[in-house]
Amino acid sequence: MPKSIAVVGGGIAGLAAAYELTRQQQAGVDVTFTLFEASDRLGGIVDTVRQDGYVLEGGPDGWVSEKPWARELAIELGLGEDLIYSNDGERVTYILRDGRLLPLPDGMRMMVPTDLGALDNSPLFSDEARHWYRNEPLRAAELKANAPDADESVASFVERHFGREVLETVGAPLLNGVFGGDVRHLSVQAVMQPFVQMEREFGSLIVALQTRARAGRVPQPIFTSLRRGVGQLTGALTTTLSPDSLLLNQRVLNLQRADGQWHLHTTGTGDVQASLRAKPLRFDAVLLALPVWETRRLLQALDPILAALLETPGSSALTVAYALPTGATVPWPKGFGFLALPGGPVRMLAATFADQKFAHRAPAGGHSVRVYYGGSEAEAMRHEDVRALAYAELERVVGPLPTPLYTSVRYWPLALPQYHVDHLQRIAEVNRHVAQLGELHLLGNGFRGVGLPDLIRDARAAACAAAMNR
Ligand SMILES: Cc1cc2nc3c(=O)[nH]c(=O)nc-3n(C[C@H](O)[C@H](O)[C@H](O)COP(=O)(O)OP(=O)(O)OC[C@H]3O[C@@H](n4cnc5c(N)ncnc54)[C@H](O)[C@@H]3O)c2cc1C
Repeated sequence: MPKSIAVVGGGIAGLAAAYELTRQQQAGVDVTFTLFEASDRLGGIVDTVRQDGYVLEGGPDGWVSEKPWARELAIELGLGEDLIYSNDGERVTYILRDGRLLPLPDGMRMMVPTDLGALDNSPLFSDEARHWYRNEPLRAAELKANAPDADESVASFVERHFGREVLETVGAPLLNGVFGGDVRHLSVQAVMQPFVQMEREFGSLIVALQTRARAGRVPQPIFTSLRRGVGQLTGALTTTLSPDSLLLNQRVLNLQRADGQWHLHTTGTGDVQASLRAKPLRFDAVLLALPVWETRRLLQALDPILAALLETPGSSALTVAYALPTGATVPWPKGFGFLALPGGPVRMLAATFADQKFAHRAPAGGHSVRVYYGGSEAEAMRHEDVRALAYAELERVVGPLPTPLYTSVRYWPLALPQYHVDHLQRIAEVNRHVAQLGELHLLGNGFRGVGLPDLIRDARAAACAAAMNR
């Protein structure tokens, strides 16, 4: 009998796991699988709208190039020719403060400058902040000696290196733009691991980056994406899967363990329900590739302590993407977009000048832009006339804009799990519990990273392990 595996959730994590299982089948491993997806489409948060030469992203618009796993997968899927890279020559990120767009100085890697000279004329920082920056390399020995073993918040880490102003002006909005979270709670070991390593090795983060640059490491483009949007990746993954193994509109309601197997109960409608009745709902192994709150719900009855460990807060996100007509001029400056400091004139967290960040996001002469709300603002905005409100906020920042051709709005409830201090220890404890339950793998963005490359690497490794484990 082939080993049977259920993949639950058809976002990038579930699709990458299903793809890897298909590869294992093709390599002769005796395994079958079924993917259950609650909604009527695959891709989850990856959601690209393409129309008339515009590419509007409702979720991720690319991934960090430093992590190879999404690029490698794209190449395996035959999308190598369609890989595109951010227009780093034009890269400027602005901070919106007191109604003004102030550019981050050149050469910043998050809140760490590689070129201290670039800070001199920056209107973003006071003399005191510049002094903190200049002093940080001189404190390298002290910072290295005192590098804590224990986890700490991003706020505490950034403040130790660069002081409060840098934390509030750059650190908090940058992290907010990625996680929609509060830097006073986010775990530095979980969300800024490379910087923790740099501190342990060099003490000073500035010295660490400068040493790397001197070592001649060829700088990569910061972000990678695909010509027709990130949805091209999930689309290509889907085409590699046998339609018989995919069940849409099938929400897994509960999960039980009996007789050495997993029993899945699902809900479904119409023809899909009929096709489901013909399929066994018992599996040898289960891969849950779900939002962490849904994983927690499914595991509650099986192991309440494990479920309690999965109580991870989540931040909601709402994106509003606009296609602007060809021929119209837009008033925003060159660059990738801006991050808004809290307490300012707008409720948005950030805006991306999409066609300036990547090529192929609008037809020649056209433009596209995306506004991003996070946390409680995202939840509040979804009840309002968000298309008009977000546009009015954008106009308040950049000036009058042409009437958009069309708009794409996406709301992602609790989509970004918050990795709070001690997240890694908690996940180690989660793993110990999971190992006791039988063949179960927890995937998705609640565990070992929220970015696409991490999710793909993790899902493929788990699928391999599940297929090979006899
Ligand atoms: C606005 C936004 C922008 C982002 N930008 C980037 C970016 O630029 N780069 C980057 O790398 N990352 C980005 N991220 C993060 C990244 O997109 C997500 O972490 C990732 O897409 C999550 O994938 P997933 O497969 O874990 O979960 P999801 O995409 O949430 O998929 C889970 C799937 O499970 C299904 N499901 C739920 N319950 C059940 C059930 N009971 N039974 C069956 N199916 C169920 C859902 O319908 C869904 O399809 C962004 C996230 C957001 C919200």
